Amino acid sequence: MKSQYRVVVIGGGVVGASVLYHLAKFGWSDVVMLERRRLASGSSWHAAGGIHALNADPNMASLQAYTIDLLSEIEKESGQNIGLHMTGGLTLAGTPERWEWLQANYRIFQSVGIDDCELLTPEEAQKRCPIMSTDGVLGAMWADREGYIDTTGTVQAYATAAKKRGAEYYEETKVESLTQTADGWQVVTDKGTITCEHVVNAAGLWAKQVGRMAGVELPVSPLKHHYLITDAVPEVAAAEFEMPMTVDLEGFTYMRQDQKGVLVGIYEVDHEHWAMDGAPWNYGEELFQEQLDRIENELTLGFERYPSIQNVGIKTWVNGAFTFSPDGNPLVGPVPGKRGYWSACAVMAGFLQGGGVGKTLAEWMIHGEPEADAWPMDVARYGDFAQNKRYIRETTGQFYSRRFVMTYPNEQLPAGRPLKMAPAHDAMTEAGCKWGVSWDLEVPLYFAPKGFEETPTLKRSNAHDIVAEECKVIREGAGLLDISGFSRFEVSGPNAEVWLDKVMASKLPAPGRAKLAPMLGENGRLKGDLTVLNWGDGTWWIMGSYYLRAWHMRWFDDHMIDGVNVRDLGEEYCGFAVVGPKSQAVVEKLAEQDISDLKFMGCGDFDIGLVRARVARMSVTGEKGYEINCRYGDHIKLRRMLLEAGADEGIRECGFNAMLSTRLEKSFGIWSAEFTQLYTPGMTGMDRWIDWDKDFVGKEAAVAERDGNGPAQVQVTLEVDAVDADASGYEPVWSGGERVGFVTSGGYGHYTGKSLAMALVDRDKAAPGTELSVHVVGVERPARIIAPSPYDPQGKAMRG
Ligand SMILES: Cc1cc2nc3c(=O)[nH]c(=O)nc-3n(C[C@H](O)[C@H](O)[C@H](O)COP(=O)(O)OP(=O)(O)OC[C@H]3O[C@@H](n4cnc5c(N)ncnc54)[C@H](O)[C@@H]3O)c2cc1C
Repeated sequence: MKSQYRVVVIGGGVVGASVLYHLAKFGWSDVVMLERRRLASGSSWHAAGGIHALNADPNMASLQAYTIDLLSEIEKESGQNIGLHMTGGLTLAGTPERWEWLQANYRIFQSVGIDDCELLTPEEAQKRCPIMSTDGVLGAMWADREGYIDTTGTVQAYATAAKKRGAEYYEETKVESLTQTADGWQVVTDKGTITCEHVVNAAGLWAKQVGRMAGVELPVSPLKHHYLITDAVPEVAAAEFEMPMTVDLEGFTYMRQDQKGVLVGIYEVDHEHWAMDGAPWNYGEELFQEQLDRIENELTLGFERYPSIQNVGIKTWVNGAFTFSPDGNPLVGPVPGKRGYWSACAVMAGFLQGGGVGKTLAEWMIHGEPEADAWPMDVARYGDFAQNKRYIRETTGQFYSRRFVMTYPNEQLPAGRPLKMAPAHDAMTEAGCKWGVSWDLEVPLYFAPKGFEETPTLKRSNAHDIVAEECKVIREGAGLLDISGFSRFEVSGPNAEVWLDKVMASKLPAPGRAKLAPMLGENGRLKGDLTVLNWGDGTWWIMGSYYLRAWHMRWFDDHMIDGVNVRDLGEEYCGFAVVGPKSQAVVEKLAEQDISDLKFMGCGDFDIGLVRARVARMSVTGEKGYEINCRYGDHIKLRRMLLEAGADEGIRECGFNAMLSTRLEKSFGIWSAEFTQLYTPGMTGMDRWIDWDKDFVGKEAAVAERDGNGPAQVQVTLEVDAVDADASGYEPVWSGGERVGFVTSGGYGHYTGKSLAMALVDRDKAAPGTELSVHVVGVERPARIIAPSPYDPQGKAMRG
């Protein structure tokens, strides 16, 4: 072992070994992996080794598909047998809603390029898995790329392949402490000290402690998990083919063949955390005693699904632990505020996600950006609030218990909530507010009559008409919207303007003005769909999506220069927006200054009744609107005053559902839908805000796109002949049987009375009037491209 490396990877499980392999493969071979015991001696050795493509998050599904494809490559490269059995796999649907969901997902997988799936009847599924009972099964999805591997062999294969490419690894070498130095890290091990530029925390069950060695509190916890392996099952032994990997969602089990018997794994509804502060250092390769009382129900369902296993013995019980983040996705990437400290933890399914995690992290470290959109697993998708132990316990527990439970897009889950509430929260609840959550904050969805409960559904819900009324108020009267759920950053200091001019690709607004500002990465892809406000007193604001607060702050910090101070105002400012043609009449009644002077996209400090507020004349609804930003302490008063002042104008409180419907009628894109870090300005229409005459981050790549052949796909607005459901995102768009794009977001335009979708489609299919079709909840519906902004295309309402 040398005393200096470029990278030290801590942990020799499947994830650490994959990171090591990908670093070496992409050109960094001065890298070492340190393992306190033997390779795979954490969670990895006792995993069930199952690999399957299905994931409710399409980005994670793509990551899993990459990993599965990589496995045979690793085997070849290393010469190490990984026991790969590509049996194909089944996912069973046991309720009509689940069957609908599976059909919808089948189409969504097509959008993300997973084409090796097919839908099966229960009888067809049974033919492929003859030991399964079809009782209660309504349908199934088959995927070719599913099966299982030998876990220890796979870890060994990644490590051996990495070594062949010049990387090193050492077993029986424990990292004991970490110290940040001027240009990297000092890694103290029980075999000596190493200095390096980068450390990677791939410590699995011990990730929490290896985080704390660097002063990092990662939102991760281990939970226990059971599987059993049966003795030989005569039907399995006699079969001419291997049983496929089979996931019974309603039964909470997965099953695969193991020699002549089967392995049945259980996602216990009655979950159990273990060692929330990280596994003890003296924890070795032991397992926990099986806890049959905790899994009785799931076990019964499993035995009913595979009746032939009732007649054979159980050879082995495994009750082991593995780690989860609050949303079940990995925690990957540069840890904010800790230069050179990288996270590769909380990988719940290391054998089917580890390859993708290794690739993503290695690209990030070497090139500064991963190729794919890493947002769903970015460690910066959480803020400090997620360090709280109860938050971690509730959210990871909820994820685990619901691992196979269907979550509807309009369903609100309770874990870790309510956490942060804007001051007027209780008064709004009293007024009928139904709440959603963004990051840590409760955000209003809509206001309903007392006793109303929304039914979870994949289709239009019973809140449809309520939201329609709110949209009408926004378009015809005055709506009051709590806008605490926007992010606000204050930029100040002598170099504030210089810095903003560099990081934003747009022109900067003049004093007293606001401007839409795309922010780009060095690779020319989007990093933000922001609004910059110039208050005219030397301070500027950047406003954007609330849940991106830590993610954007990391970006700002990474691009900081002297003489600039960026402050996240998320704990100081909140506010209300008044939107609609009567908004001016409402605000005028309270403003001490002449509000009519404030033109579209103007901003300034105003006294709104007793509240000193920072007001901007803009609205994402496409109506005339005033965003009134106030200090947290003024929120209750501001709401009361606006409701009183607006009473004569029929002001009514509205929620984000109405805001989303109205923005869709204006073809205004939003982050995580029309805009992601995978898309470019040319694809999304963001190029129209770029100031090509100045220098800005990402200019070279943006110019190359502008002057090249143009993007392959561009953003369009679709009107869909939908019946009882609307598109939501990632549904495929077809032109005569050929897939030509996918939906980025969709919904019902209540005021225009149209089912609308925004989509990225091939450029030669993007002309208004083009007839296409879209799958909505698994059913193909005719659709056509319409001119953008079906409501008020000239923008008279918002400017008026
Ligand atoms: C019962 C069960 C069944 C499962 N089935 C599947 C499945 O079918 N498919 C699937 O994909 N996943 C499955 N998993 C999950 C899978 O096991 C994990 O996702 C995976 O092992 C995580 O790998 P890792 O490398 O992140 O962590 P680990 O395997 O825990 O590796 C971390 C390593 O870091 C080392 N380490 C920690 N601290 C230090 C230090 N300070 N210095 C040096 N070394 C250190 C540890 O010794 C350990 O070897 C299952 C898990 C369980 C418990």
